[in-house]
Amino acid sequence: MSGIPLRVTPMNIVPEVAALDAEMRAWRHHLHAHPETAFEETVTAAFVADKLRSFGLEVHTGLAKTGVVGVLQSGTADTAIGLRADLDALHIHEQTGVAHCSRNPGRMHACGHDGHTTMLLAAAKAMAARRNFDGIAYFIFQPAEENEGGGRVMVEEGLFDRFPARAVYGMHNWPRMPAGTFAMRAGPLMGAYDIFEIVATGKGAHAAMAYQGKDPMLFASHAISALQTIVSRNLHPQDAGVVSVTQVHAGETWNVIPEQIVLRGTVRTFSEDVQALIERRMRGIVDGAAAMFDMTATVRYERRYPATVNSERETAYAMDAAVAVVGAANVDTNPTPEMGSEDFAFMLKARPGCYVWLGAGQGPDTPNIHNPRYDFNDDVLRIGASYWVTLAEQQLPRVRA
Ligand SMILES: [Zn+2]
Ligand SMILES: [Zn+2]
Repeated sequence: MSGIPLRVTPMNIVPEVAALDAEMRAWRHHLHAHPETAFEETVTAAFVADKLRSFGLEVHTGLAKTGVVGVLQSGTADTAIGLRADLDALHIHEQTGVAHCSRNPGRMHACGHDGHTTMLLAAAKAMAARRNFDGIAYFIFQPAEENEGGGRVMVEEGLFDRFPARAVYGMHNWPRMPAGTFAMRAGPLMGAYDIFEIVATGKGAHAAMAYQGKDPMLFASHAISALQTIVSRNLHPQDAGVVSVTQVHAGETWNVIPEQIVLRGTVRTFSEDVQALIERRMRGIVDGAAAMFDMTATVRYERRYPATVNSERETAYAMDAAVAVVGAANVDTNPTPEMGSEDFAFMLKARPGCYVWLGAGQGPDTPNIHNPRYDFNDDVLRIGASYWVTLAEQQLPRVRA
């Protein structure tokens, strides 16, 4: 449990952000204690809206049910950028034992969205105080990042028509990286998230008279093995993909061959070509295995979240801002992408932009996100908030007379 201190001595913390450190911790602990899940973040959204109003921002609520957008204008330019945080918690029973532990049983801020919300609020407060930019900053607080695609709903409800940002930026804390470092890359950073359900229907029979039936267990055993050949035998070795069967459901007792079997799982990819290839091969394998054992099978394949793909120019801007805050030695500009997925991807499909990881690790034993013992690292609040302010002011420069 030896805690590794911050790897960096942050070099350019925005003074107005540094002054908010204690307040940020208090906000973060309050949010952590009152977690709400997808599209039910009403108390959280009210907290955010109240704070934004108190900083003097124009506030819009009700996008994607519980989303909030704060608008801060300075100067006369109509150039606008969007900065986005997520509001939601997870269905997890918290086991941290901290004083600000969840008061809502079975719900927990185990992904650090309490920290993300806090950092973006602090950036809004600091920028409103500084007025050191010319243009419009949209502070986007989206609901339902986990599983339910609140980012997609916001885009579909006209987020960028109502708030025409030229580019949009996102950030996630990353406990696997040392606290106070950043990582980002142009191109894909996180994978697309697809799900599939395969239903094979054979013919039930007495297990002792198997010749009278059509055994869907055999279908499953062959199909699961064959699905693993898609990545190993069909994908170019430089392309990436994951096919995971995660559920098998069939059978009730010892001596009955069931009629039906259901397989479920997930596919992760970085490119749409690979995604299409995997779906096509999956359908081929399922049809083939069903034919082999003289039964029928169907595939339901659903594309949930696209890959999170950063644009070239905005990634360069994000790198500049991160370097300005923590120094080049603490910014990884070519991290290995992860196959986890992120619904900020929907905003990046609508606008150019960049999603970055903010290192939040406190040593090798730091619980990772989605762990019941995870807690957001408060020491990085001022680093993330300073990154937001630095990025926005760099993107919306004030022309000095
Ligand atoms: Zn998460
Ligand atoms: Zn998250």
